[in-house]
Amino acid sequence: MNLSDREIREYLKGKDDAKLFAEADRIRRDIFGKDVFLRGILEFSNYCKQNCLYCGLRRDNHEILRYRLSNSEIMKCAEEIVNSGISTIVFQTGEDPYYSDNEIANIISAIKTKYNIAVTLSLGERKRETYKLWRDAGADRYLIRMESFNLKNYSNARPGTIWQNRRKCLEYLDELGYEIGSGIMVGLPGDTLEDIVTAIKELTSMHLHMIGAGPFIAHPQTPFSNKKNGSFDMTLRVYAIMRILNPLANIPSTSAMESAHLRGRMKGLQVGANVIMPSFTPKRIRELYNIYPGKNVQDDIDKDDLQAALDMIVKAGYKVSFARGDSPLKSSKFKVQS
Ligand code: SAH
Ligand code: SF4
Repeated sequence: MNLSDREIREYLKGKDDAKLFAEADRIRRDIFGKDVFLRGILEFSNYCKQNCLYCGLRRDNHEILRYRLSNSEIMKCAEEIVNSGISTIVFQTGEDPYYSDNEIANIISAIKTKYNIAVTLSLGERKRETYKLWRDAGADRYLIRMESFNLKNYSNARPGTIWQNRRKCLEYLDELGYEIGSGIMVGLPGDTLEDIVTAIKELTSMHLHMIGAGPFIAHPQTPFSNKKNGSFDMTLRVYAIMRILNPLANIPSTSAMESAHLRGRMKGLQVGANVIMPSFTPKRIRELYNIYPGKNVQDDIDKDDLQAALDMIVKAGYKVSFARGDSPLKSSKFKVQS
């Protein structure tokens, strides 16, 4: 189904949420039925060499305690994910050069040799040869959000990084045969409604296997501490529009949704999302992976536990699926715009 720019704009402004959400859910049920796929996420380091103005893990945040998991701890968590019945493990970290490319490749191939499980990486911007090494080791999918399609706001928010390079990363990943995922932070400081319209169109033109979005949440230990949070309602509309325009994409209802709104992830599932990513980061350190406030904090940590996720899925009116949940979109038609 197609939507004109005007329709996208009007829906984002909240013209007819009931119609938008119902249509998104209809399409989602058409493609995936009631299934919600699970991904076990392991955040094995909170060190980062980057300095993104929005993120609690930024290198200049000296107020947080840093941690790294050893190889054996990583393998133990992978085993827990496998034992839970989940068929995808997601590794996410800051950009931490402590682990060499080869070391990460060895972890990937150890997991792929031992278990029948899909491996998704979300380890930031790397060289093409590094992506190739990890793909050859067995990695299946890669998530890297563009964050914003307003180049000025992007370079302001991510000092020292270049938007085109991030875009190039997606192109490399696609060439190497990964399932690729990207997305935005809704309400990144400076972004306007028009920027979101552009992002929706651009992301759709990439024919992504996975689309991830969450509202920007101001972190007190960052330069963006006094910026306005992204709108939860706007993020729901982004989910729904993305589902309508990208019927075959896997769309997670992200933990930022939960931080922004009580039962936020459940709402996300009801407007087009079809994936939930419970955290398997060990409890003693989970709260230190504090990208934004409310993420993995001790008080409501249980929401990231598996049983809580399973209950929530059923309560939302869907069915838990332990399948691998590859995207039915087999070949992406990713092209770099000139
Ligand atoms: N270092 C990797 C992966 C970890 S960050 C990377 O940057 O790609 C994962 C995601 O967290 C980012 O893509 C960003 O969209 C999101 N994020 C970071 N800070 C946030 C904040 N303050 N509010 C909401 N989402 C945030
Ligand atoms: Fe590092 Fe990612 Fe946070 Fe940027 S968003 S500081 S790259 S962890």
